[in-house]
Amino acid sequence: MEIGLVTYAPETVKGYDYHVYYSKWVNGSIFPAAKGMQNDVTCFCDAKAIREKPDIVAISKNGPALRKNRKANLAFDYVCPTNPEYLNKVLDYIKELNKEEILGTTLNLYHFPEEEFCVCPRCVELWRTSGLNWIDWRADTVTKFIAKAKKYLKGTFAVEMFPDPVLAKQRFGVDLDRVAELVDYFHVPLSARDYTTNYWVDLLARDFLKILKKPIMLELSAEMPNFEKMDSLLKTIAHLSKRSFKAILLLVHDSKNAMQIIEFAIKNKDFRDWLAKFEFSEMIKIVEKWATIY
Ligand SMILES: [Zn+2]
Repeated sequence: MEIGLVTYAPETVKGYDYHVYYSKWVNGSIFPAAKGMQNDVTCFCDAKAIREKPDIVAISKNGPALRKNRKANLAFDYVCPTNPEYLNKVLDYIKELNKEEILGTTLNLYHFPEEEFCVCPRCVELWRTSGLNWIDWRADTVTKFIAKAKKYLKGTFAVEMFPDPVLAKQRFGVDLDRVAELVDYFHVPLSARDYTTNYWVDLLARDFLKILKKPIMLELSAEMPNFEKMDSLLKTIAHLSKRSFKAILLLVHDSKNAMQIIEFAIKNKDFRDWLAKFEFSEMIKIVEKWATIY
């Protein structure tokens, strides 16, 4: 198993095999490509674009796909995924990104906000003329977008996803089997403030391993300020390392944060004894590698 980072800074850190960099954010900020890294592109969540042009937002009978609309209960502001101008803007960005020496591209938030979206006049017309039912039309729309984006990509291709293994198609229009045919791996974020309660991580991790027909990189939040949280994070990774994930990715603020995790793991004798006692061989390999570097 590999260990990697997901980061907002275009810097690699020794001891991590893989680096994912957020190059286009949900707030609409865009950044130049991070060379040698996997560049993560937020597609249809773009608060800035919606502020500038409010009519591009996705619509439901309960109102627009905006955080401030609490009837919708969304974490981000979503553009309608069939808006042709916005779509081209995203594809142009992906094209430019792939002119640089990047490792690959990960698409993020490339789907509908929820099952009741989008009922703008254009989407309703496209759905009616498609001859498909609502769920299949939405999945078809999302799959076609991913396939279109893929034409501009080089290197490793992945998609992130909202971690719902059961209702992905119904809620977001993400048909996991069809998407699997297009990507090299899935990037599944299981974000949390900490992993002191972690049964749900194991639950979702195992469900995704059973369902997804491509390798999986699992992301955990690692912006941990204290001993207890760091200890539970590392033990959660150790448990996951017994399963067949391609990698565990740690979301960090920056390289200093990434090195803190390594330092904690190397210097914590109790943790290393615990790994040895319960035979976490994959995790032991990672910590031993870290110890030779730092
Ligand atoms: Zn629409």
